[in-house]
Amino acid sequence: MKRIRVEYVWLDGTEPLPQLRSKARYLDDHYSLVIEDWNFDGGSTNQGSLENSDRKLECVRTYKDPFNKGGLIALCEVAYHSNVPHETNTRHPLRALTKKHDGILVGFEQEFTFMDKESQDPLGLCLSPKEQGQYYCGAGSMNVIGRQIMCEFEKACIDAGIEIDGINAEVMPGQWEYQTKAQSPLKASDDLWITRYLLERISESYPICISYDPKPHPKFNGAGCHTNFSTALMRDRLNDKDIESLVEALSQDHSEFMKVCGEGYEKRLTGECETSSYKKFTSGVADRGASLRIPEKVSREGKGYFEDRRPCANIDPYKVLHSLITSVGNTLLI
Ligand code: MG
Repeated sequence: MKRIRVEYVWLDGTEPLPQLRSKARYLDDHYSLVIEDWNFDGGSTNQGSLENSDRKLECVRTYKDPFNKGGLIALCEVAYHSNVPHETNTRHPLRALTKKHDGILVGFEQEFTFMDKESQDPLGLCLSPKEQGQYYCGAGSMNVIGRQIMCEFEKACIDAGIEIDGINAEVMPGQWEYQTKAQSPLKASDDLWITRYLLERISESYPICISYDPKPHPKFNGAGCHTNFSTALMRDRLNDKDIESLVEALSQDHSEFMKVCGEGYEKRLTGECETSSYKKFTSGVADRGASLRIPEKVSREGKGYFEDRRPCANIDPYKVLHSLITSVGNTLLI
């Protein structure tokens, strides 16, 4: 009997940002493989207690496992054995909401920073950076750091079957970005979590760790997770009046939305370093200093998407999209 190695991956109950956990098992591959539910110790993941620790893993999406040929990665939701979703399961509410809304597409621009494991400083500080400017999309050993790890990451994404749109070195040395392909909110969020999982796994082989700190160094640009969003209607028509209604809806929910923009957002969203201030919602065509950017091409053509520049690198995409979809749901654009 053929047996398949399956790595079950789930989000734990760590606050404010869940950590990724995983464990593997071998499943018999009969005629077609069934990824059975599995059990874990929620008392060790902030999802239960010693006396009440059994929690259930329910596979919701599978990927090829780039680290084990022929194996699978199974992304799971966490539930009680009564089948009630666990309180830390932020995917479940988004799944329920998106059932009502077809045609939404989302792409993320995930920034992050390689940190030295021992000093916990950004890896790029060893280049003795004086100021930002030479590192963005840089080349050469004095201008870029961590490319080898990014090449490994890129290959792992492809091997897993995750489509990313691009990768670039960022403004601060040791800081990188990758862009995920525009997809349904649930798939885009699942893929984002699995790309983070792949990065974590690759980092185990180097003296580094991955930081999603929104402001890892006071002198340099912070790390965001700009969120590109469109509905089927917006891709067909997004004129000035539509944009006005969008701005009003997002502006109204601004302070609520900031709560899901990532712990420490106020350190990044200062109004400096290509950000807007967290204190006030702003919007503009081609404006990278605004909360909401309408791309120039979208404004010119009167259709397309918007870029929400508020989310920080350390967001939970399930929460961010739940909030954004709810806000856009108050317009006629969905
Ligand atoms: Mg960037």
